[in-house]
Amino acid sequence: MATIRVRGNWGRLALALLVAPWVSGCGGLVASLGVAEQDDIVRVRSTAPVRPASDPRMLVLRVTAAQPEWPGTRPLVAPPRRAIRCEQVKCVALTFDDGPYDHTGAVLDTLARYGARATFFVVGQMVTPQSTHYLRRMVSEGHEIGNHSWDHPALPSLAGDGVRDQLGRTQRAVRAATGVTMRLFRPPYGATDGKVAEQAARAGLAQIMWDVDTMDWRDRDTSLVTRRASAAGSGSVVLMHDIHKTTADAVPGLLRDLAARGYAFVTVSELYGADLVPGRSYAGRTGTDGATGRR
Ligand SMILES: [Zn+2]
Repeated sequence: MATIRVRGNWGRLALALLVAPWVSGCGGLVASLGVAEQDDIVRVRSTAPVRPASDPRMLVLRVTAAQPEWPGTRPLVAPPRRAIRCEQVKCVALTFDDGPYDHTGAVLDTLARYGARATFFVVGQMVTPQSTHYLRRMVSEGHEIGNHSWDHPALPSLAGDGVRDQLGRTQRAVRAATGVTMRLFRPPYGATDGKVAEQAARAGLAQIMWDVDTMDWRDRDTSLVTRRASAAGSGSVVLMHDIHKTTADAVPGLLRDLAARGYAFVTVSELYGADLVPGRSYAGRTGTDGATGRR
């Protein structure tokens, strides 16, 4: 509350001139400014200053100044793992290997349209400043990321140190890009042995094979990939590659077909519903793992 004491007509005129521009030019101020006159005492009641309408560009400048690294290092928030009971409902785990690459965005867009989650087994050297946004999308949209080696060799041909290096470099690249520590590993070509399993165990990685192979790397035929993926059964892990446009183009059709048959699209960890054992090999809840004979 501010009190201004004025005397005589000159004082009132001066006050009127002082107040008039505000009252006539700013509707918001008219409502918030109370002027009470009592004899020669005029009380001017003011409220909080009226701010100009916010300018989005100014807001960005202010927020950026307050957080200079925003949004680059903004922590990723992944949606929680869903409690889907895949022993009771029909689940399928779609998996995409060898990316991230140019078609990964289209695959993510399609998955988002269907509310579907999947698992991406990424190659370490594909994780670049240009592809990091795909990885961050995967995490923030609820997908799972797995290790697919650094540069895709047949791991049994390497010495133990070489296998460890392939796994470790990729773990570090994905952790640097997303903050995520991967728990899954898919051996390139599905080629594994005791030495590879031992290194996977040391790195905290379960080995994930598949029971439905779309052969999309060989047959660049969208309808064929759709048909093969749509043949998945309950508990299947489906192998695809998001580096091929024909595969990205097949995803809408296979999601439509499988959704029509009542399938839920889950990550590999959701499919198993429990933490997988590092080093152990899995190939779908209904499939047989050729590498270990384990079902
Ligand atoms: Zn591969």
